[in-house]
Amino acid sequence: GGFMMRKPSKHEYAMEITAIDTSCIYGEPGIFRGWLRFKNPTLAEYQWPLCEIRGSSPGPKLCISAGVHVNEVSAIEAAVRLQHLFDPQSIRGIISIIPLINQPALYRYSEYVCPIDGKNINHSFPGRPDGSFSEALCDAIVNEWTSGSDCYVDMHGGDLREQVSKFVLYQRTNNRNFDAYARQLAMCFDSEIVLGLPQSYLDRPGRPPTAFAHGNRIALMSEAGSNGLADEDTISFHVNGVLNIARTIGVSDVPASPYRSGGLICDDYVWVHSPVDGEFHAEIQPGCRVEGGQRLGEFRDLFGEALAEIKAPSSGLVLWRITHPSIPRGEPVLAIAVEEHSSHS
Ligand SMILES: [Zn+2]
Repeated sequence: GGFMMRKPSKHEYAMEITAIDTSCIYGEPGIFRGWLRFKNPTLAEYQWPLCEIRGSSPGPKLCISAGVHVNEVSAIEAAVRLQHLFDPQSIRGIISIIPLINQPALYRYSEYVCPIDGKNINHSFPGRPDGSFSEALCDAIVNEWTSGSDCYVDMHGGDLREQVSKFVLYQRTNNRNFDAYARQLAMCFDSEIVLGLPQSYLDRPGRPPTAFAHGNRIALMSEAGSNGLADEDTISFHVNGVLNIARTIGVSDVPASPYRSGGLICDDYVWVHSPVDGEFHAEIQPGCRVEGGQRLGEFRDLFGEALAEIKAPSSGLVLWRITHPSIPRGEPVLAIAVEEHSSHS
């Protein structure tokens, strides 16, 4: 049956929650499974799968999502598996999971965007209630679904034409304590790179870590995977990282696993764009270290003749790259994460 959540005080709309047969009653200790519908009329045509595991004692609220990009399937599979890895008898607080955010893209395999408005949800936070579908959805995520959360993790990794390193993003601010805690939580993942986004990102719409930092709330984005493939290595990266966050914020009593690598700390990243229309032949892979000026690969035409080469604009680690060789002039080819305390040149 339907259950109306109490209306958030500063918000015009409230969520409607419907349980499926195998669910506990929403809001009671146990495992809730069902559907969430936001009341914003812009979102009224869609509902979102929701799993909420609630312990019998109060505690932190951890929100987890995937499928902002529907081809990033390792992250989606991790969000499904995580629903079965928390025992309401032994946790404190709430784990709330939406395994597939971009519902309009489901079965349409849209790359990067929400097909209703053509916007990339991942770059539309915090959104606005009177905006387009993606903006209204971002607003509903920030102000309704994750309301009161201690940490929100949005999991990503590897759209159809890309391969990403294992990395975690957090947002840096002018608050040292906030930044240190956000970084500590980011390091709960066994990543190759931990990237603290520069403060300049706070000036414009962006990803959840940026939007949440405005309200002094922590959100992280984890990335691992490639080419729309679900593989055990990247699924476990997401699953184990989230489990470690749950331990670190006190949802569960199990001690967090320390990672020796802990991820290389980076504090910026640079995009490299294609200088020509052509076929890119990469000489590096995500996770590789590169030096400034190092050759990264070559563009060739369809007769196999060299057209141009690209060089690293900065030393750092390759964060991700486009794997499909055909890349038009001006489009992104790869990005390089720049190590903290390096000269940025
Ligand atoms: Zn993504």
